[in-house]
Amino acid sequence: MTTLLIPVSYHGQGKNAELAHITLEAILAAHPHGDVAAVVIGQPGTAAALQADLSQAGVSAIYAAEADDALLSLGVTETDVISKIAVDKACNGIVLPDSVLNREIAGRLAARLGSGIASDVVALTAPNTVTHSIFGSQLDVHATVHGPTPVVILRNGVVEVPADSEAQSEKPLVEIEEVEIPRGGTARSVRVTSMTPEETSDRPDLTTAKIVVAGGRGVCSPENFATLVEGLADELGAAVGSTRDAVDLDYCAGATQIGQTGVTIAPELYIGLGISGAIQHKAGMQNAKRIVVVNNDPEAPLFSIADLGIVGDATEVVPALLELLHDQD
Ligand SMILES: Cc1cc2nc3c(=O)[nH]c(=O)nc-3n(C[C@H](O)[C@H](O)[C@H](O)COP(=O)(O)OP(=O)(O)OC[C@H]3O[C@@H](n4cnc5c(N)ncnc54)[C@H](O)[C@@H]3O)c2cc1C
Repeated sequence: MTTLLIPVSYHGQGKNAELAHITLEAILAAHPHGDVAAVVIGQPGTAAALQADLSQAGVSAIYAAEADDALLSLGVTETDVISKIAVDKACNGIVLPDSVLNREIAGRLAARLGSGIASDVVALTAPNTVTHSIFGSQLDVHATVHGPTPVVILRNGVVEVPADSEAQSEKPLVEIEEVEIPRGGTARSVRVTSMTPEETSDRPDLTTAKIVVAGGRGVCSPENFATLVEGLADELGAAVGSTRDAVDLDYCAGATQIGQTGVTIAPELYIGLGISGAIQHKAGMQNAKRIVVVNNDPEAPLFSIADLGIVGDATEVVPALLELLHDQD
């Protein structure tokens, strides 16, 4: 029987851990091709907190590698654990939900296991056959990933998780199998010595939000970003996104960056304010179902994929829009 291994992404730690939506996407993408085994790496209690949701999502095995320092080596421990399970359990492939850390781990896994790797995968047609997006999402190509344990990084937002999944009949709990974290062997020359907790907000999660309001260099200042981009997002119950330039200029936090080196989104509605539409940004948002663009340059490339384009100054258009929305309240 074919088994695909999924390293689980989650928010929070220990008993407060919650399954990330991207893990559900990876499980759904892998399911048609065999059994799905999940591996949870983190602080003690994490796997137990995720057990019910993973069972409900249909995994057939849950491996837990837990220790207080499990996540303090920037991917080395994860690589040790995942590659050992892949070999010991004779897994036929590894599907990682996309994240900055998982890209690092995926590269290490492919090297360790002597297998090929495919990133930006938008469809899995067999454990070793994928469609993946290349050249900043300009082309989709079919590829076969060679080697004993093909490593695949699934792009976020490409698998629709049915809303009624919660209404499905309750599945029995899958037992947790503890696995030892290999100590020694790989030199641990990098240790994380402190961490800044992720900033939390009441806004929806950027990767799964139905509406995203994104701002670029054209909003002109951090103050404008707060009033125009975040203000409109809050009015619409939307998540906040940005371009890399906006992040580099300190208009907003790095976690809001959409694009090739940021997050990939596929919301119902994307509103881009003062964003030119570089291919690296489009790579992360062009799957939005509706795209609205506000830019004072009618030649801005983002207009070419817009459903509604407004040629105008964002500092005038957005306050007018906010006023209209307030009048409707
Ligand atoms: C390897 C690599 C990876 C990258 N990864 C990413 C990525 O993941 N995400 C990303 O976003 N970028 C990425 N970039 C950067 C990318 O190439 C662009 O530089 C960036 O997306 C541009 O951001 P921007 O649209 O905010 O700025 P600009 O390109 O400077 O555009 C600003 C726009 O605002 C408009 N404007 C100005 N004033 C106003 C106003 N008052 N009202 C309305 N409109 C106004 C201008 O007409 C212009 O079109 C990457 C680049 C490289 C080389």
